[in-house]
Amino acid sequence: MCKIKSSTNQESCIFCSSTNLAYNSLDLVENILSFDVDCRDCFSTTNVAFTLHDVTLKTCGDNHAVSLTDEQRERYLLSPQSCPVCQFYKDESTEIQFGTFNCDQKQGHMIGKCPSCDSSWLDSYELKDITIVDLGKLANA
Ligand SMILES: [Zn+2]
Ligand SMILES: [Zn+2]
Repeated sequence: MCKIKSSTNQESCIFCSSTNLAYNSLDLVENILSFDVDCRDCFSTTNVAFTLHDVTLKTCGDNHAVSLTDEQRERYLLSPQSCPVCQFYKDESTEIQFGTFNCDQKQGHMIGKCPSCDSSWLDSYELKDITIVDLGKLANA
């Protein structure tokens, strides 16, 4: 599963400001990416959700396109489970590969790669919501 990397101290616990955080695995449902963040100091858990709002083609394998058409882009932004270039989803042995999710304040980025047509692209996400899952120490106070 994907890894998550935070590049700024903005990504600190909303309760105690600790940066001693553990990021759980990514969950992609339609165009919303979410993951739980556990604080190792106050034991709270929050769920952070990002919405996909842009995609940029980085390299294109088979068909030598230099950028996505408006139609490909629109379709991908609504359902990013398939390759934006060739629409490959998955078969028995392989599926779309996503790299590390990098978040920087309210923006997030992740690179996708298609094993079928060899294209890669950059997803851009914006912070949508933060939900408190567990108050940790505060709940016991
Ligand atoms: Zn905390
Ligand atoms: Zn493809």
